[in-house]
Amino acid sequence: MKLGKYSLGIGDRFSHQGVAQLRAIVRANQTGLDISPVWNKSNREHMYVHSHPADVRVEADAAVATLGFSGKYFVDADHINLGTVAPFVETADFFTLDVASFIGKESPESEVNAFVASCSKYIGNLTIPGIDHTIPVTEELLEKLAFQFLAAARQAGEIYNYLKVAKGEGNFITEVSMDEVETPQTPVELFFILKMLADKGVPAQTIAPKFTGRFNKGVDYTGNVDQFAIEFEEDVLVIDYAVKEFGLPEELKLSVHSGSDKFSIYPVMAQIIRKYDKGLHVKTAGTTWLEEVIGLALAGGEALVAAKFIYSSALGRKEELCAPYADVIDIDDSKLPSISEVSGWTGEKFANSLRHIPGHPDYNPNLRQLIHVGYKIASEMGTSYTDLLKKHADLVGQCVEENIYDRHLKRLFNL
Ligand SMILES: [Zn+2]
Repeated sequence: MKLGKYSLGIGDRFSHQGVAQLRAIVRANQTGLDISPVWNKSNREHMYVHSHPADVRVEADAAVATLGFSGKYFVDADHINLGTVAPFVETADFFTLDVASFIGKESPESEVNAFVASCSKYIGNLTIPGIDHTIPVTEELLEKLAFQFLAAARQAGEIYNYLKVAKGEGNFITEVSMDEVETPQTPVELFFILKMLADKGVPAQTIAPKFTGRFNKGVDYTGNVDQFAIEFEEDVLVIDYAVKEFGLPEELKLSVHSGSDKFSIYPVMAQIIRKYDKGLHVKTAGTTWLEEVIGLALAGGEALVAAKFIYSSALGRKEELCAPYADVIDIDDSKLPSISEVSGWTGEKFANSLRHIPGHPDYNPNLRQLIHVGYKIASEMGTSYTDLLKKHADLVGQCVEENIYDRHLKRLFNL
């Protein structure tokens, strides 16, 4: 099973927007592209909204049938580990093996030594084709990398082997993610991580490193775009070389997590993948849920009341809601509007404050991030929330489609 060159991870918290999400991809593909949709949902999301991995398969299949979509599509068991993978086995065909928590865990010295010995040909000045400077590699560096990453690679191997037995070799896509950590992985680290994965027999088709800069949820990239560009380009070249050196799958490509709304780096990514004719996977996750709230606000009446209730509840429970996402949000409390202020807003004003249009005078990234982590509130509203989604399906669907097509795909693929 092969993923294809371009793929977009579309998360959908409440499983009502599959068709609208797919419409955006169909529109992009009508321009000659071949983007594969990948419906992804993590164990954490399932727990918060009390959904089951099988629901994502049902949603994906239904969306594909509704639109008569004939391309490849996948269902991603996002950020799973050995403890959480089992319920996903039957219905997912894309598995994101999250081994970030194994980074820095100790490995047996014999294994470290064997790794270092297997890399002896790279000691000295490593030349990666396309990168205009050599990278000094010493035995000490290799030892350090082995101590840091071997346990994570071994863990990826264990999860992969479990899946190989459970699903059969070749029947699923393997992604390895290391993005949910504080310290970014450098291109040279990525090179040796890929060697470790190859050594452990993990045929990764996508790899999600932690890039430089902040990838906060639902808002633009924060960091040095020029430095990101250099690292992203070097990562692409490292992968190309690693595929040849280590016999990894030819289609191996970068996966950008929390990739929705990173508008300021999309042109950089687009330019680099075009320059080298490489593939890319971008996970968008919660950006769709925000469009639901925008759509409800625009619908007015009881739907606007519900949107305001979500904000006021989230404000009241800010600490609890933000805690699991502390590393991936930056909210300036002083810029959060008060409940009484928001209660006087029109649907337009609410939507404009929440919608991610950089430079729009009403756009408020603080409010946006708070609502981003506030999906637990909507989940607690149960059918009173999902009934509103059904009642205003057209308007909400339009918002979802426009967000993915106009603000994401157009920028990512120069449409
Ligand atoms: Zn992730």
